[in-house]
Amino acid sequence: MKVSLVVPCYNEEGNVKLFAKKVEEIFKNKYSYEIIFINDGSKDNTLNELKEIAKNHNQNIKIINFSRNFGKEAGIYAGLKEAKGDYINIIDADLQQDPKFTLDMVEFLEKNPDYDIVTAYQKQRHESKVLAFFKKSFYKIINKMSEIEFVNGASDFRTFRKNVVNSILELTEYYRFSKGIFSWVGYNVYYMPYEVHQRINGSSKWSFWKLFKYAINGIVSFTTSPLRLSTILGLFFSLLSIIYLIVVIIQKIFFQINIEGYATIVALILLLGGIQLLCIGIIGEYLARTYVETKKRPIYIAKEIIDNQKEKKHEEN
Ligand code: UDP
Ligand code: MG
Repeated sequence: MKVSLVVPCYNEEGNVKLFAKKVEEIFKNKYSYEIIFINDGSKDNTLNELKEIAKNHNQNIKIINFSRNFGKEAGIYAGLKEAKGDYINIIDADLQQDPKFTLDMVEFLEKNPDYDIVTAYQKQRHESKVLAFFKKSFYKIINKMSEIEFVNGASDFRTFRKNVVNSILELTEYYRFSKGIFSWVGYNVYYMPYEVHQRINGSSKWSFWKLFKYAINGIVSFTTSPLRLSTILGLFFSLLSIIYLIVVIIQKIFFQINIEGYATIVALILLLGGIQLLCIGIIGEYLARTYVETKKRPIYIAKEIIDNQKEKKHEEN
């Protein structure tokens, strides 16, 4: 087996057959391959479509059917665990990422033994200026705080050598921020520019709020710097208050100036109260994650795993 395609699917009934057909056209006469579809608790007809693909496809098709929606990151983990290929590619089911590009990535790795990972990255993005600004800020912040590198525009659309996947699978945390995990394991990465296509059917699952939560998850998963914020602010305000105290005492003793400060007091109480709550909130984020991680719950639950090669063997026996 040469290439494994790991394909997380959530409500992709209109796309999966087109996807499988396209992969067949591209890889025919090139490499042997397997497609691992993860049905991530789809509420539409995706599962039946996948089963039909498994029945009719001449190459190995596996379907990991989740017991509910666990999210794309869990899907990626399940798929990587199941993948047997020398080159393992993560790709979306909606054909926004061209399987032709998978072939390019695999060929690159074949020709360049020094590289271990090929990451597709978007040079140009078709999105609003506001969103682009937020994304840019996010990458600036996370790169400042974290020791690993995050590249703006780098997607989950990647191809790994088998040993890289083994390393990724050693990270068994529940909160999976794939972009961080892929950087954390290291290895030599080649960034290959690509164009994202329009979605063929269905709709994107990302809203601004979801992206925001994703960003917070990324920061909390890959740096503990925010926890230092309370120490720094605490030091700063303590110092400030000592200086201010000295000023007030001098004014009182030497110049008999009475300090009136109703507005100042209210403003300071609000400011410091706000900062304290913010710091407690940050600690809470980390604590909550620690709490969930200590439970050691499985990352996903597979209701069934379908493998068309095994079924064929069954029929032959
Ligand atoms: N996806 C998934 N589980 C989810 C959400 C999405 O497996 O809970 C899959 C989805 O079917 C698609 C891929 O993840 O194959 C990317 O999702 P989407 O197209 O919504 O993201 P975008 O392309 O807008 O970043
Ligand atoms: Mg998409």
